[in-house]
Formats: sequence, structure tokens, C-alpha cells
Amino acid sequence: MSGGTFDCDVLIIGGGPTGVTLASLLARRGVSVIVAEKEAEIFPLPRAAHIDHEGMRILQEAGAAEAVMATSRSADRYEFRNARGKVLLCFEGAGGNGPGGWPVANMIHQPSVEAALCRALAERDPEALRSGWEMLGFAEDADGVTARFATPQGERTLRSRYLVGADGARSPVRKACGITFEDLGFEEPWLVVDVLVDDPSRLPTANLQICDPARPTTCVLMGEGRHRWEFMILPGETPEAVSTPESVARLLSPWNVAGAVRIERTAVYTFRARIAEQWRQGRVLLAGDAAHQTPPFAGQGMCSGLRDAANLAWKLAAVTKGEAEAALLDTYRPERAPNLRATIDMAIMMGRMVCTTSRFGAALRDAKLGLARMLGKLPDGPPAYPPLNKGAILAGTPGAGDYFPQFTGTGGERLDDVLGDGFWLIEQRDSAAARLAPFGADIGHWFAAHEAVAVLVRPDRYVFGTGTPAKLTAAWAAQLSGA
Ligand SMILES: Cc1cc2nc3c(=O)[nH]c(=O)nc-3n(C[C@H](O)[C@H](O)[C@H](O)COP(=O)(O)OP(=O)(O)OC[C@H]3O[C@@H](n4cnc5c(N)ncnc54)[C@H](O)[C@@H]3O)c2cc1C
Repeated sequence: MSGGTFDCDVLIIGGGPTGVTLASLLARRGVSVIVAEKEAEIFPLPRAAHIDHEGMRILQEAGAAEAVMATSRSADRYEFRNARGKVLLCFEGAGGNGPGGWPVANMIHQPSVEAALCRALAERDPEALRSGWEMLGFAEDADGVTARFATPQGERTLRSRYLVGADGARSPVRKACGITFEDLGFEEPWLVVDVLVDDPSRLPTANLQICDPARPTTCVLMGEGRHRWEFMILPGETPEAVSTPESVARLLSPWNVAGAVRIERTAVYTFRARIAEQWRQGRVLLAGDAAHQTPPFAGQGMCSGLRDAANLAWKLAAVTKGEAEAALLDTYRPERAPNLRATIDMAIMMGRMVCTTSRFGAALRDAKLGLARMLGKLPDGPPAYPPLNKGAILAGTPGAGDYFPQFTGTGGERLDDVLGDGFWLIEQRDSAAARLAPFGADIGHWFAAHEAVAVLVRPDRYVFGTGTPAKLTAAWAAQLSGA
């Protein structure tokens, strides 16, 4: 089939956090979108426990941030301790606002986040999410993509201009495209134990990595009323043996929480680090876990999928509305992959610190970290991700590719709520104007630091470039037209 009518502009396979966020951001921009999710209900068991300030800013645009914050909690600290309880590495200040304008680290319950996202999408477009629709296959032609589904009402077909595989780590879309992974060399099986909390006073208030070679262990907060432990499965152990109720009780016993918590579920996950070699093949794109996977030690898997959604949404909107050439979509992976690599490198660094199972290796690690601490070379917070250094930016102008902060105004208002969706052209002289006055000092500092008279901020809140307004608008138009 080619030409013909379209059921939607963008068809998203997979209604997890990446797919539903992308759908909301597209619907907000007036793009017709359908999300096909094979399950009838939201996956009920927790996976992500943490979302960062940038992820929260994206949820803000998707309309779900307030609902997520209502049940999110903040951990005092994120500590890596050795077997004797000595702190090897510590990140503090999670409760303060990050550049995204939300607290740096927010401990959440993934099914509640997904429910908030689905509600926000339904408010904008009640027909967009098709639950119980399993994609069986698809075919691409010159004008669009036609996909087949098993649905509760029998087999159905949908035709769209673009198809996005946000269908998770096993991504049938990625497999159908024959796209392989670059393996970044991390593979460890862990037992995850999620609990419902009856007595919070008996639980740690910090997130902990216990770097004990005898049993590497993670203990983290989740959204209100929940807590999580993760135990590395050691060489020679089987997932079945460590998952028995007796084994779980033994693993939890050092934490002395019997009677304070009830086990909600246990599951074994193999933590991996991989990036798909291609994220676009013609009219088909990949996003979220379908495109990449990271070990969870930096709490960035879902956050990375949200960043993909933010990067892709404005580009797909511009292309499907005829405002940009399809070549704009080729900037997606080159922009996102370096950011993702930095995220995964950080997670692997943390993972290797935690997953050491040799006593000698652990002693060496402790000595190296002690030295690094003495020399002031230990990171004291989450990584500052690299700016975009290629793609849809006016390279060479001060600030191009940087993340543009969401300033909080003098009355507590957030910049994105005041300026709204789309790209922003802000002139230095505007910073005193009534609308920007509450942010005037911060915006003034930004301009002074970049010695700029105007900035063009992309809809995903990365800086396109700085310069005169005329130069910026001309360069932006050229970027969209592929000139
Ligand atoms: C133990 C653990 C801890 C984690 N901790 C964190 C953390 O703290 N912070 C963080 O940011 N991330 C964390 N993550 C990662 C996070 O859970 C994932 O990155 C996130 O769920 C990915 O979202 P997604 O929408 O890309 O994919 P998924 O959530 O996997 O959603 C994909 C969807 O596609 C659907 N689908 C698949 N095939 C089809 C088909 N043929 N047709 C229709 N639908 C289909 C699936 O049913 C699923 O709903 C953690 C993960 C684990 C396992």
C-alpha cells in the first residue's frame, strides 16, 4: 500500500513511559497520534525508582509532573559504603532544584508515574491510547507505514506517516528492522525485592549501595509507602535459589525490617548496557529501552526514554506539519547518543564499584577511592551531561547545545509555564519585560555568562544558538529546511 488515508501522523508502539510521554508531547503540538499497547493494564510492578529534574521538566510539559510529585519522596543522600560501613562516595543535595527547575532526585513508583502520564494523555486525546493492541508486524512504503494488530475486537490495521518503536528492551520493532546493539560490556543478574512499608521509622532515609564483595546490595527509597532492595546474584547461585521466600528473608535479615515491611514482589533482572546501532530507519524510529539500556545504578533508564521523547517530539511535529524536512530526524541519534553514553558510563562506573565480588578487588577499590577523595577527584553529584555538540544547533555560537535552565521566578512560577511550548527567542533587553521580570536576574546572568544579545531555545529546551535575533531566526529556518 502507498498513499491513501492515514489513521494518524505518528503511530507509537508501546505504552510505557517513553511512548505515552512522546504521545502527550505530540498531541500538545497538534499532531495526530495513536499509541498501541499490547497489555490491557499498566504494568503493575515497580521498575524505575528515581527520576531526575530534567525528567520532571519533561513530565511537566506532558502534564503529569504535579501528580508525580504528590507521591514522590526525596532521599537525604546517595551513599556508596564498603562492607565495614565506610562511605566511599556520597552524593548530597538531592532535594534542591536542579537546572530542570525540579528537585535533583525524586524517588517514585513507576506504575504511578505511568498512570499519571496516561491520565494526562487521555485529557488531551481520549482516543490516543489503544490498550490491548499488540502489534504483529508492519510494512513501510514511500509515504507511510502500515501496521497490523491483534486487538480485543480482532485483527486491525493502522496506517501512519511515521512509526515509533517505544516497545521496550525486547522491541519487536527493532527486531523487525534488523537493528543490532552496540554492547557496552556490562551484564549482571540481580534480585529485586520491592516492599510495602508499614513502619517507615525503621527504614533508611538515604539511598545506599553496599559495596560488600560478599553480597553487593542496593537499598533505595521509592514513592510514598514503598522501599526497594536489590541483591547481586553471585557466581554459582541460581535466580531460582535466591528468590525463595527463605532466601529473601535471609537477605533482608541484616536490615532488621521484619514486621516493618511486606514483600510486594521479587524479580530477577539482568542489568545491561547497550545502545542500538541505528535509531532511525526510513519512517521508523526507536525510543526508550527499545533504543538503549543502562544498568540502574544511576537511575537513568526511564529518564533517558523521556529525553528521547522530548528530542523527538518537536522534530516529528515539525516534519509531519511540513515545517521541516525529514532530514531533521537524522539529528536525533547524533544528539542523543553522546548524552546517553555519558549516562551509561556513569552507571557502569557505579555498577563496577558496587559489583566487585573479590575481597582483593574491593580492598584495591577502597584504596583508590580513598586516594581520589584525598585529591578531591571524586564526583560529588550526578554527572553534568555533555552539551549537544552536533545536530540541530548553531555550532560555534556561545551556549549552542547547552541545556537551558528552567528558572524559578520570584513568585515561585516556572519559566516553561510562563513562556509555553515551542521555541523561544529571548533577547537580553527582554529580561526586564513584565513577563520575564520574575526571572530577570537569572536570565540576565545567563546572558552575561554567554556574552549574548539573544538566544534561541529549542522546544526541548536545549540552546539552538546565540547571536542577533535576525541571524538566529534565519539560521533556525535554514536548519528546518535542511539548507
Ligand atoms: C530493577 C529496575 C530498576 C530501574 N530503576 C530505574 C530508575 O531508578 N530510574 C530510571 O529512570 N529507570 C529505571 N529503570 C529503567 C526503566 O524501568 C525503563 O528504562 C523504562 O521502563 C523504559 O520505558 P519504555 O517506555 O522505553 O519501555 P517499557 O517500560 O518496557 O515499555 C514498553 C511497552 O511496550 C509494550 N510492547 C512491547 N511489545 C509490544 C507490541 N508488539 N505491541 C504493542 N505493545 C508492545 C510493552 O507491553 C510495554 O508496555 C529500572 C529498571 C529496572 C528493571
